[in-house]
Amino acid sequence: MNINPVYLYSDNPSKSLNIHKVIESLAKLNIHSEFKGNFFEYLKLNSNEQQVLYNEISQTLIEDIEREKYRLGTISANPNTNNKVLYDGFLFTGVVNKYFMSNLHRSLNNIHIIFTDRLLCTFENKRYHARVILMGQPTFISTSGLVEAPAKPREYYFLKAQFIAAGKKLEQLDEYFSGQYVKYNDPKTTDILVSYTLQSIFYELTGKPFCSNNKCCLFNSHWQKDVLEIQYKAKLCKQHQKLLDY
Ligand SMILES: [Zn+2]
Repeated sequence: MNINPVYLYSDNPSKSLNIHKVIESLAKLNIHSEFKGNFFEYLKLNSNEQQVLYNEISQTLIEDIEREKYRLGTISANPNTNNKVLYDGFLFTGVVNKYFMSNLHRSLNNIHIIFTDRLLCTFENKRYHARVILMGQPTFISTSGLVEAPAKPREYYFLKAQFIAAGKKLEQLDEYFSGQYVKYNDPKTTDILVSYTLQSIFYELTGKPFCSNNKCCLFNSHWQKDVLEIQYKAKLCKQHQKLLDY
């Protein structure tokens, strides 16, 4: 399959993500990718335009996790990324997409992927949920979302409530469950995100990002356990490998 170069950008992702290693892994699959630096610098906005953009982004912040954001508020938050802050993912990507289209119109045949630490959420089942990946042009892949979005073991949530009630430190809980979920700055981050990058590439190429085979890194994992097994290996099934080789 002939794939146009994939453009990768950063938006302050976790330091544990090595984008150059992602490029090497994609190259082994004959996918050429290039790192273009910080996405918001790449847009080359003047300071006025930048201020407008930051204001628009701050209006996508979630105020109440149980109330979907329809009306844009007027929050004067700072535009710096902060992984404790939650964004309405669709509103956020809508804002970015507008700037993306007006600035990068010449490279619309390329796939654009931004690695961020922002927690991008979507509203489902009465509350906002964090997401690892929001596909589109550009696609966002969140290193914080990788930690927060896939579900941890059920016992974790049970014990967490007990720990909080007893005033105990959650670090002990993390120690107890060590290796069972992805942590912030986890050394496994890079390999895992190669798989999410491939999901985004297959989505652009075929319209289908996922695979039903739970040995394939395009499998849509909902549990941390599956992410650590399937996405960490970053292996495609025969059928998807064939599609690339064709
Ligand atoms: Zn597959």
